[in-house]
Amino acid sequence: MVEGECKLCGEHRELKLSHFIPKFVGKWVKDSSATGYIRLNQNINKRAQDIAKDYWLCGECEQLFSGWEREFANKIFYPFVKNETDSAFYGEWLAKFCASLSWRTLSYMRSMNPRSDKVVDEKEKVVLRGLASFLLGKTSNLGIFEQHFYPLDAIDSASVGVGLPENINRYLLRSMHMDVLVGDGQVMVYTKLPKFILLGLSNHSESKQMRSSRVSIREGKLFPQSYYWPKGFAEYMFGKAREISQLYRKINPNQQAVIEKTLTKNPERAAASETIAAFQHDLEMFGRAAFSPSNPDDSA
Ligand SMILES: [Zn+2]
Repeated sequence: MVEGECKLCGEHRELKLSHFIPKFVGKWVKDSSATGYIRLNQNINKRAQDIAKDYWLCGECEQLFSGWEREFANKIFYPFVKNETDSAFYGEWLAKFCASLSWRTLSYMRSMNPRSDKVVDEKEKVVLRGLASFLLGKTSNLGIFEQHFYPLDAIDSASVGVGLPENINRYLLRSMHMDVLVGDGQVMVYTKLPKFILLGLSNHSESKQMRSSRVSIREGKLFPQSYYWPKGFAEYMFGKAREISQLYRKINPNQQAVIEKTLTKNPERAAASETIAAFQHDLEMFGRAAFSPSNPDDSA
């Protein structure tokens, strides 16, 4: 048993093993992958059993998170990733779920890279405090912190493909990723799930143009519509996709052989997998260039 201070409510209690990216997301990526394994970008030469987790939350806070996760999983995540629908109504749980993701991403990134810039550190602490009191029900809204949630589709049209990385569909449809972008005195919390992006931001100069992606605090509807990305964000994302591609170029030959062996052992699984489906989209758009190595498993 692990005891300590819960990072969310601050109570000294028994701590549970919590996932930063929700566990059901990692499980879906693994189950729908070509090989049945995932590789983490931090350590691509090793198959990973699981995505990042740590003893951070007490049982009560963990319960709180899992209630919102269940709503999101059943009403949005699974129906969207299975292509059963492209729209969904949501209730108050979506704002809570998104806040829990941003809180986890920001806390995790800070634990990995302690902030040396005092101004940034202070800004992030304010965001974390705001998220925590919203999550714990002490405040009914997030103040100046806005949450923007984007359902993603495959890109198949070459006309928009100019300058895109050759693994863009695999990145959009399959990857999991957490990051915090700091610039111009703004803190942007980035959480990438397969087929979805969540951006958390405060005082952003373009927030007016971004209305369509904003998560309502009470209820709303997700449906296909045109979305606005903040300036520089698309380039950031493409850069991340390229980084993954570069990583896989460096995968060692032994591990490459392990992947090939797993694929040939069960070709039916691979053919029916979402990994291959995402690859097909890249292939349609880029032709042979899509064969540059990227996501033979799926990465986080
Ligand atoms: Zn707690």
